[in-house]
Amino acid sequence: MSDNRPVAKPGIDDIAIYVPGKSSVPRGVQLYKLSSNESPIGPSQSAINAYAQSAGHLESYPDGSATALREAIGDVHALNPDNIICGNGSDELLALLANAYLGPGDEAIYSEYGFLVYRIAILAAGATPVVAPETGYCANVDAILQRVNAKTRLIYLANPNNPTGTYLPINEVRRLHGALPKNVLLVLDAAYAEYVRQNDYEAGIELVSASENVVMTRTFSKIFGLAALRIGWAYGPTRLIDTINRIRGPFNVNAAALAAATSAIRDRDHIERSIAHNNLWLEKTRKALMALGLEVTPSIGNFLLVHFPPVEGKTAEEANRYLTARGYVLRGVGGYGLPNALRMSIGSEQANLGVISALGEFLGSDN
Ligand SMILES: *Cc1c(COP(=O)(O)O)cnc(C)c1O
Repeated sequence: MSDNRPVAKPGIDDIAIYVPGKSSVPRGVQLYKLSSNESPIGPSQSAINAYAQSAGHLESYPDGSATALREAIGDVHALNPDNIICGNGSDELLALLANAYLGPGDEAIYSEYGFLVYRIAILAAGATPVVAPETGYCANVDAILQRVNAKTRLIYLANPNNPTGTYLPINEVRRLHGALPKNVLLVLDAAYAEYVRQNDYEAGIELVSASENVVMTRTFSKIFGLAALRIGWAYGPTRLIDTINRIRGPFNVNAAALAAATSAIRDRDHIERSIAHNNLWLEKTRKALMALGLEVTPSIGNFLLVHFPPVEGKTAEEANRYLTARGYVLRGVGGYGLPNALRMSIGSEQANLGVISALGEFLGSDN
């Protein structure tokens, strides 16, 4: 083949670019960004202080092995720091896992409304994405298992899932794991684990500890309010951590992120405050939106999937335009195959009440 320009590997140019949550509203209108599941509480003050202090040492490379942060995480979660790896956001770790374990001819499974970063990571590694249908906007273990074959190498499961907010109880995750061949890696993405209160939920720490083919990823972007710094971590079996350490950049996490995250994870008060705010407003907002006649998928995260009727004048797209004009930026989820829904992050009291009131006007009017 004689190409007259450089050509990317097969699959790469088929990737649909990830569209981040929007953040622009008309000039002069106050912005309430509810499109990226960011924390309305913001980060811990101690994390901000640690970040500011790191400004005094910008000439030095960061600790490439993230020792202090891995020890802090190990302390807080009672884990061996040797089984932890840090990444430039958990997105980096999700991609590194695909790069390490997937290649052309391999298949990797994710569920119908699963986080879109998985599809991108699979295609970027040259492998084939396989989509398992969901039931009631929730991952279905049997549907996933039906798609496992000799080519399957990896399964991504967000638990709870974004953008639906639904989850699999730990007994279902165990059932999934128990039925998988030992050479298939189960990736449990627990980005919202800190928010969850359900007794039948576990992020997967015990499952990782007891097996060779499970890894759990976590992030500082959500409850810890450090999305700007790009920092996440994974807990996995020794062999897997060793593998990922070989292919990551030697200084993949920057010093400011390491400093802030190391402080943030120890600030229990801040975490509790963030959980309390979310508990209160997740429930209040869902009830209020349902009282307006909207269908809202039950969520255990810090966001709600709100369904609009496919009726002219009342569609998700029109609601999105109406809200944006008033400063409330939600997330369109057409890219997830959910054209009739919007995802709303739980924001400040003012933001949540504002959305509820604006949607009340929108649904009541003959716009
Ligand atoms: C937000 C989110 C992440 C976190 O990504 P970071 O790269 O750590 O910011 C991971 N998985 C899911 C499902 C998410 O919603």
